[in-house]
Amino acid sequence: MDIKKTDDTYVAHTYGRFPVAFVSGKGAKLYDDEGKEYIDLSTGIATNVFGVADDQWVAAVTAQLGNVQHTSNLYYTEPCAKLAQLLCERTGMKKVFFSNSGAEANECAIKTARRWQHLNYGGERPVIITLKNSFHGRTITTLAATGQDVFHTEFGPFTEGFVYADPNVPGDLTRLAEENPCCAVMIETVQGEGGVNPLSTEFVAEVNAVAEKHGLLIIVDEVQTGNGRTGRLYGYMNFDLKPDIVSTAKGLGGGLPIGACMLGERVQDVLTPGSHGSTFGGNPVCCAGAVSVIERLDDALLEGVRQRSEYIIIQLNGSKGVKSISGLGLMLGIETERPAKEVISGCLERGVVVISAKNKVRLLPPLNIDMDDLKKAINILKEELAK
Ligand SMILES: *Cc1c(COP(=O)(O)O)cnc(C)c1O
Repeated sequence: MDIKKTDDTYVAHTYGRFPVAFVSGKGAKLYDDEGKEYIDLSTGIATNVFGVADDQWVAAVTAQLGNVQHTSNLYYTEPCAKLAQLLCERTGMKKVFFSNSGAEANECAIKTARRWQHLNYGGERPVIITLKNSFHGRTITTLAATGQDVFHTEFGPFTEGFVYADPNVPGDLTRLAEENPCCAVMIETVQGEGGVNPLSTEFVAEVNAVAEKHGLLIIVDEVQTGNGRTGRLYGYMNFDLKPDIVSTAKGLGGGLPIGACMLGERVQDVLTPGSHGSTFGGNPVCCAGAVSVIERLDDALLEGVRQRSEYIIIQLNGSKGVKSISGLGLMLGIETERPAKEVISGCLERGVVVISAKNKVRLLPPLNIDMDDLKKAINILKEELAK
């Protein structure tokens, strides 16, 4: 079968694919349909946290697959209960709603905030402040929450009730909170799709001050920053932040589709029976994978993430063709002198998988990537950056 031709004929053209079809892998190694080997510094966009076909993860997933693959949310399953407990114990949040994706986790966060203001303010504070340059998903509502016009073209009308603060303009968030009847502020601690930009400590202080003054909920979108990616279990743990709602997905299932919306004390009882749901949400196979991921993200593993991050930054800082490096942990953006696209294609050609974020090269390697693989890949990347 000609995979590329068949795909181009029958799959909707929403993606600009690279001319590669991966068929297998192990850890940070990937193999294409011609047997060529690659080192993967992108992990399926921050999903395969322990790389490809990790033994412990495969064992956890296949054990559950052989028990029961799905039951619906009309019944209890152990992996679902266990994952919710783990997430609450590790974050201090009180309840978890499970979905299948990041966008749906954010939909839950938004619905929770909207219902909370109905219960507490009679529906008079519907506005949610999000940030310019943010990304929250592809559904109509999460697109409305996304503060980048490029994603909005020709898909309107959108869900109402979002305004966008510029995190680089001091006082902008404060002004919007004063001008609008708000219930929540929604942020990414590192804007991933926006170009791998961490929030400044000054802006986080403004978020806290505004939330305190106006009684706003703090929603943190940890879809990309979550699950160890930034060197802490969740990105907000790098900052002085106490979120009321945390959404996550991508890395949570270790490569299976699952999202979670974690609810703190103030909102833990907002969603009641029948008010929200998802057929596949909390699927036991996905939850079994996620349990095995979260259980392994201990202090030693997170320390390893920070060490690998430091290694990459030291290697690339001041290296030829590198203008700047941004990000946290193993979520890094490289501002390049060559067009990022050329660097990415050059790397792929030479067996190193990296992706873009706006005009940057983005690195999202496996959190436990073997140091030899990492060194080899970074050397090739450095050569491509310097061309
Ligand atoms: C990827 C991403 C989403 C959307 O997640 P999907 O699983 O693609 O729906 C939302 N928010 C952030 C911050 C993301 O990086």
